[in-house]
Amino acid sequence: MVAGPSWWERAACAGAPLEAFFEEYRSRGKSRAAEYCRSCPVTQECLQDALRAESQQYAGPWGYRAGKTAVERRALGRYQRSA
Ligand code: SF4
Repeated sequence: MVAGPSWWERAACAGAPLEAFFEEYRSRGKSRAAEYCRSCPVTQECLQDALRAESQQYAGPWGYRAGKTAVERRALGRYQRSA
């Protein structure tokens, strides 16, 4: 078993079905993933981790994470790299 960062233990989505984060975005405010992220105490840690990991991938980002859609995270990642 590989240990993750300590903030994962406080994630609101711990134990949540993974598919909830890859559903079609009918409406950002109504997706199951958005419900988890809205109440999550580690959104900032999650977002920084996502941006770091996704900047090292050739494809993606995919799915909903850190209270953001893939499109929103892609734009944030571009902004951070250009700043
Ligand atoms: S911000 Fe969202 S995706 Fe990230 S750990 Fe919290 S609930 Fe999970």
